[in-house]
Amino acid sequence: MITLESTITDLIRLKETTRVGLCRLGIFVVRDLLYHFPTRYADVSLFTSISGLIEGETATIRGTIKSISTKKSWKTKVAMSEAVIEDMSGTIHARWFHQPYLAKMLAAGNSVELTGKVSMYKEKPSLINPAIKEEKILPIDSHDSLFGITSEQPHLRTEQTGVLTPLYAETKGISSQWFHHAINRALSQLQDIPDHIPESILKEYSLPGLKSALIWIHTPRSTSDATIARKRFAFDEIFSINVARQKERSEIKAKQAYRIETTTLNTSTFIDRLGFSLTDAQKGAIGHILTDLEKDIPMSRLLEGDVGSGKTAVAAVATYATIMNRPLDTKKDTQQSFGNLQVAYMAPTEILATQQFESFIELFKDTGISIALITGSGCRKFPSKVSSSKTSWTTISRPQLAKWIANGEIPIVIGTHALIQKSLEFKHLALAIIDEQHRFGLNQRKGLAKKDTHFPHLLSMTATPIPRTLALTIYGDLDLSILDQMPHGRKKVITELILPNKREEVYKQIRLLLNEGRQVYVICPRINESDPDTANALIARSVIAEAARLAKEVFPEYKIGILHSKMTKDKKEDAMRAFVDHKIDILVATSVVEVGVNVPNATAIIIEGAERFGLSQLHQLRGRVQRSNHQPYCFLFAETKSDKTKERMKLFTTAKNGFELAEYDLGLRGTGELTGTKQWGISDIGMEALRNLKLVQAARQSAISIVSAHPSLAPYPLLQKKIEAMKGMHFE
Ligand code: ADP
Ligand code: MG
Repeated sequence: MITLESTITDLIRLKETTRVGLCRLGIFVVRDLLYHFPTRYADVSLFTSISGLIEGETATIRGTIKSISTKKSWKTKVAMSEAVIEDMSGTIHARWFHQPYLAKMLAAGNSVELTGKVSMYKEKPSLINPAIKEEKILPIDSHDSLFGITSEQPHLRTEQTGVLTPLYAETKGISSQWFHHAINRALSQLQDIPDHIPESILKEYSLPGLKSALIWIHTPRSTSDATIARKRFAFDEIFSINVARQKERSEIKAKQAYRIETTTLNTSTFIDRLGFSLTDAQKGAIGHILTDLEKDIPMSRLLEGDVGSGKTAVAAVATYATIMNRPLDTKKDTQQSFGNLQVAYMAPTEILATQQFESFIELFKDTGISIALITGSGCRKFPSKVSSSKTSWTTISRPQLAKWIANGEIPIVIGTHALIQKSLEFKHLALAIIDEQHRFGLNQRKGLAKKDTHFPHLLSMTATPIPRTLALTIYGDLDLSILDQMPHGRKKVITELILPNKREEVYKQIRLLLNEGRQVYVICPRINESDPDTANALIARSVIAEAARLAKEVFPEYKIGILHSKMTKDKKEDAMRAFVDHKIDILVATSVVEVGVNVPNATAIIIEGAERFGLSQLHQLRGRVQRSNHQPYCFLFAETKSDKTKERMKLFTTAKNGFELAEYDLGLRGTGELTGTKQWGISDIGMEALRNLKLVQAARQSAISIVSAHPSLAPYPLLQKKIEAMKGMHFE
């Protein structure tokens, strides 16, 4: 008997290429197969079969590419792509003159939809320069109404005479037809598919049950079937994430945290030491945090603010307030007269951790407080007993540091992931601060807290601008403080869209900056020429080639370094370190440079192929050069100056902050544009759902009411199982 957990081989015999293809897609059991949704539907009545094509008529065919290559036409020597396309009824040649690159973008085995005029070429019917249709993700209705079937997908609004055929994203060795066939077989053999969404919720929003939804999404009789099924899965995903978040929130709220006394504390002397006056946004965030810390319920707060908005200062005040408190004397239920509560501050890279260690030394040097740094490459402790300088530190061994953390002698510990390793134990950890981390959940907090009877407060900080619906979903367990103001005196980045013929002028301007001792970032869309992303390979510049070109032809007198995601962690750290230390002048990088390293001396950024980046991503890149009082510049090199590019660039230069741009990205161009989409662990259908605020709010509300009524989810064993299965898959 076939169940959702049956392997695909129980269902159907597999050729080796198919098996490998399924592995690549992460499809192992029947459940995975059923959740491989069609990317769109085609009305087969709109297609002509190849054998039925008539010379001189324009027609649309759907078929598979049998072969494709680049050729030169023998008379005129015009470069072209030539392909043989096959459907059930026959084959036909297609030719694209002056478009040799098509042969590189398409490959044998791809399904294509071609529209063009049929003509005879060398006595054979042939399609000349036919239009190619891209596979597009079927959009979820982002219409205002919640679940009513009010609007059909525009491209399906054509008269429906035939049957809707689901089209699946293909991969090497597996055609769309194979999926269609295998899924139909699974659906017909499955007895029962129990639903994890409680029935009352399905009723409330008139959503179909799981089995109907699966049948409708894979074999819809009408577009409304498909629409309502997709909505069910969109709701399902957002709801499930919300349930997981709310459950975690309620588990954390039930724990006990250190109550941090802030009223008698003179935070203003500490703030005076910062050397600048706080922005109102910073003051507001500090207010929220101190109020949270005074309770014995663990704080779970997210501080969102653009790069450079001053999150560190907020974190430092929270740290100060915490360490100025003494641990509890458990016998008397009062504070001890010695020792400090502890703070752990985690950063995503060694360089960032080291930078943060250095800035904390500056901030805390007059408090007599010890600070430690722990990373993969070693440990440091401040102050140094041997040196007389006020800000010097010493390296110490890891076991020694672990001992001092465990006995509570070191109140502030800054580090990378090395902080949450098993061997490290805090005596009185009261606050965990996580910088630029997408999620830091219950388990990591438990990992930090270990034996201590108290659970740490959490302050999570991010500069990744995300839209409200996404924040509500993935950060549904966190309270939010936003820094939507930049410190006074920051110069606005001069942002310019540059066309290819103005490149030299920009280089002249860059040379002036370099001569003044400034540093420059150059961002490229790709790593190297043989990038598998063939569509980009033809046009977009690559880090490796561009670094070589700049070194040879443009800036031979300056030192150029590279940084990209395929480098080892150590190599990346080395490259960043060299840039921080000004051992290199120009850093050519992919967008990995997004994550916040502070190089105030870098005041210009060139972004190659700017039209390929989402606006919020461009914004984050631009933020890299806004860290000092020098005039910063951002040059966007674009291949085209289309209206669309111009419109986007206008938004980019006028938007007030990253959140605004993230909303534009979501609304204008779809979720593919959002920074870090892949990291959120949300499927395409879930990301599409985020465009529908009402859906997101409904899913969230349902999750909140279910979890508050039954925190353990006891009446909903299937939902509980689903949430368990999601753990580890998402975010952490
Ligand atoms: P981010 O939010 O990106 O972490 P940082 O905390 O690193 O930003 O702050 C960026 C720079 O701005 C630092 O050099 C910091 O000292 C400075 N800064 C922070 N707040 C203020 C302020 N209110 N006025 C002036 N400068 C500030
Ligand atoms: Mg920061």
